[in-house]
Amino acid sequence: MSLIVQKYGGTSVGNPERIRSVANRVAEWHRQGHRVVAVVSAMSGVTDSLLKLAREVCAEPAEREMDVLLATGEQTTISLLAMALHSIGVPAVSLTGAQAGIVTDGKHTKAKIANITPGQVKKHLDSGEVVIVAGFQGQTLEGRITTLGRGGSDLTAIAIAAAIKAEVCQIYTDVDGVYTADPRIVPNATKIQEISYDEMLEMAGAGSKVMQARSVEFAKKFNVKFEVRSSFNNNPGTIVKEENQSMEQVVVRGVSVEKNQAKVTISGVPDQPGIAAKLFQTIAEAGVNVDMIVQNVSQSGETDVTFTLHKDDVDKANKIAASISELSSAKSVTVKEGIAKLSVVGIGMRSHGGVASSLFTALSGQGINIQMISTSEIKITVVIDENRSAEAARAVHDQFGLNVVNSGH
Ligand code: ASP
Ligand code: MG
Repeated sequence: MSLIVQKYGGTSVGNPERIRSVANRVAEWHRQGHRVVAVVSAMSGVTDSLLKLAREVCAEPAEREMDVLLATGEQTTISLLAMALHSIGVPAVSLTGAQAGIVTDGKHTKAKIANITPGQVKKHLDSGEVVIVAGFQGQTLEGRITTLGRGGSDLTAIAIAAAIKAEVCQIYTDVDGVYTADPRIVPNATKIQEISYDEMLEMAGAGSKVMQARSVEFAKKFNVKFEVRSSFNNNPGTIVKEENQSMEQVVVRGVSVEKNQAKVTISGVPDQPGIAAKLFQTIAEAGVNVDMIVQNVSQSGETDVTFTLHKDDVDKANKIAASISELSSAKSVTVKEGIAKLSVVGIGMRSHGGVASSLFTALSGQGINIQMISTSEIKITVVIDENRSAEAARAVHDQFGLNVVNSGH
């Protein structure tokens, strides 16, 4: 018998039938004698349509009101799930974020959890009820409703698991777990049994959108072990936890591809102190989110600076191209779309060499040109032509034998 926190995402509770199926799953754990807290998201599409509704009545909705509105999505789901549980004879009670004791700072629409006082959660668990908590929302000390940023129900689940010291935290979603690559691109990708927080963060940051990155950071900080698994079957998922020695044996845990990238190249910039500072200040002020930055070795007092950004920021980048060139007395500024980032991730890279050369060998075997390279302790990223990113991912996945290792311990 254990204390379990389960989180069900938007697709898992996307319609009445699915809510009933979640109720059956929760009921099964409850019947086995476990104490269950279920954190739920809004039904899929609801948060988006609330956002749209708001924009239809007001061009710039006040963030305080936005939070009051957005919080209704999750509030719908908690009550419906409680009703579905009642209808099959399981005692259950729904709690809003505020009722569950989730106290946040006052940054509306992206609030941070300050602390949790889970008195009511514990009280209802003690009386044998399933406790259903609205994800994604909290309350400031002054009683204002807040939300935690898109995907924030994951954070609610992890934070509650930490606060009540749950033995297990299960994140139920529409995929079976974390894979060595996106199975839609790499058909022989395999499910990863165990992955460290850092690897999960790098995979998430590199585009495998299984979970909100902030939640993984929070889990790492408070050492909350969690499992990502499907709400549509009973397969074991992927365990995300603190790294151990055996995890380092696997050099590359996974390959991820992030499409929809663009790059800006600023050529013939004078190689002087202060130029990069000025440049990137202008870029930041224009609201462009910069990712990889590469500066060439200077030739005769001049250098080239290249950076990547998301395709969505290309218009902004184009708008400031002229002022960038003027500011930095650059010879030219070019913006190019149609590129992708491919990354290999693994904590084993800290202790094993040769990963970069294997990666480059796999790409050259396909005749794929590498446009930029960047590395961190546990990740190597290359920028390549977007059109070739799928075949690149397959070749790299094979190169590191990821179809057979089934990276576990
Ligand atoms: N409903 C919120 C969103 O769509 C929170 C969540 O689903 O985790 O972002
Ligand atoms: Mg979600």
